Amino acid sequence: MGGPSRDMPHATSRAAVLDVIRAAGTISRVRLIEATGFTGATISTVVRRLIDDGLVTEVGRAESTGGKPRTLLALNESSRYAVGIHLDHSGITYVLTDLGGSVVARMSRAGVGTDDPPVVVARMADAVHKLVQGVGISPDLVLGLGLVAPGPLTPSSGMRLTPPTMRHWEEFPLDQALAEAVGLPVILENDATAAALGEHWSGVMRDAASFAALYIGTGIGSGLMIDGASYRGGSGNAGEIGHICLDANGPDCWCGARGCTEALAGPAAVVTQARADANIARAAGLTQGPGGQRPSVAADFDAVARAARLGDTGARDLLETSARWLALAARTLANIMDLEHLVLTGPSLAIAGSFYLPIVQEELDRAFFARAAHPVRVRLSASPATAPAIGAATMMLRAELVPLRQNGIPLPGTYGEAESTAPATAPARAGR
Ligand SMILES: [Zn+2]
Repeated sequence: MGGPSRDMPHATSRAAVLDVIRAAGTISRVRLIEATGFTGATISTVVRRLIDDGLVTEVGRAESTGGKPRTLLALNESSRYAVGIHLDHSGITYVLTDLGGSVVARMSRAGVGTDDPPVVVARMADAVHKLVQGVGISPDLVLGLGLVAPGPLTPSSGMRLTPPTMRHWEEFPLDQALAEAVGLPVILENDATAAALGEHWSGVMRDAASFAALYIGTGIGSGLMIDGASYRGGSGNAGEIGHICLDANGPDCWCGARGCTEALAGPAAVVTQARADANIARAAGLTQGPGGQRPSVAADFDAVARAARLGDTGARDLLETSARWLALAARTLANIMDLEHLVLTGPSLAIAGSFYLPIVQEELDRAFFARAAHPVRVRLSASPATAPAIGAATMMLRAELVPLRQNGIPLPGTYGEAESTAPATAPARAGR
């Protein structure tokens, strides 16, 4: 098992034991002792309390070599729930997940549009209540709400948005307002970091303690998990792989630099090139002029990916060119972190993912610096479109049930480890 090790980052033995059970699926008490390094007495006490609280259940017995069969433990997945919200310009995705991170209900609603923040918050609170009521669970079992929003987000205001249509959200304390409207704690986080946590908790990366998630939404970013903890950097801005330079003479990027991964390979770049080619634009149904625009770059990008999957070679060439740029960024990330695992995730990979996976894997097989020591295994998310929302719910499950140790006391004006800070005050950064 590649989950938590003896060198545990968890705040308590209870958190560590619960996390090992989650990562293992099913596990005996004897294996728990081996995996955590705790004494038999500690494991016995902690497990009894977890069972009493309904978080863990005995699910059967495993054959053992001699002696009596060992009782197996597993998470009681229907014992707790969390809500995840992915707030985007074009739409709001809501999911309700159980303790295991499985989606038990989801809904999509219109984006924030030009409505005033309090109106949108009221709408979101209403949607959350409907989501919980719809599955008939007790609201008492819902631990809280994780929120992924476009940014940059600041710790003082909770939300600061760049698009001109959403300027009226600047300085609006979104997390606090939502926490009051819903009556639940709220954690705010960046999309790529949230998606990485979701992949670790319940996605394709549940067997990996250290990995990177390469995320493509409207832009490109990455989330970094190191020994079971997310690495957020000094201000929550770690992993901005979309803004490393791949071509010193490349196109200008909105971030102020030039030749960035995102400027060369991002959905906006692909869509611009598709629109410039009449054949591809027609195949993808990218109509020109006012009134013919789709609501978002992401929707246009999906249309190009659909055309490629239906056999349009021009559309496929654009995606493969984008994938080769992305593969260079993936190799950079892998070289710096000596990665063994990489997951490709994010809404823009829901349709286009199959074009990116083989090209990124091929680049890492061919040119990853430490390839003689080990390969980098690349996987595609099982739920790329809902990854941010699932990750958002995961943040809340994690913060409430398996909090991590705080690395020292944060100084005024600096950020602590978000997973150890109280909900509704956690800082977050740019969305994409
Ligand atoms: Zn840039």
